[in-house]
Amino acid sequence: MDFVKIQELVKQIAEKYAYPVPTIKMNTRMVITTGKCWPQRHIIELSKKYCDFAADKDIEDLIKHEIAHMKHPNHGWGFKVACMEMGVSHGFRDSHSETDGYSEYIGKHAKVKYECPNCGKISSTLRPYKKIHSCGKCCPGVFNSIYELKRVK
Ligand SMILES: [Zn+2]
Ligand SMILES: [Zn+2]
Repeated sequence: MDFVKIQELVKQIAEKYAYPVPTIKMNTRMVITTGKCWPQRHIIELSKKYCDFAADKDIEDLIKHEIAHMKHPNHGWGFKVACMEMGVSHGFRDSHSETDGYSEYIGKHAKVKYECPNCGKISSTLRPYKKIHSCGKCCPGVFNSIYELKRVK
């Protein structure tokens, strides 16, 4: 989505849901972080690489997610309710990193890949993990050495 279209969409959404219209900055270096919000300054920064790649619907969800941060700086309940009111799809209410579009996007930019020895799921990342990780699909939320990811690339 190009910058003009993004700005129009941001204005539309902010006005519709009674938020101040933020200033949008496109960040050409940001890759992993797709959006950032400075609530006091009414500034939202978006990853240009992500906006060049992602589907319109995902960009709309990202914009709504960042707009909700203007009233709710963290991802608490107030934030989630604000997102639901704007019709943000589920994955974007906590963090965009849980959506399929995001995994695909990171996969495209990934330099490092890990494989789960149990289910064979490949995880892509930009930089090698500092700590050992286990598969999020086989043992979500906890570390288990049985499912320790092996670096394949
Ligand atoms: Zn957020
Ligand atoms: Zn697994």
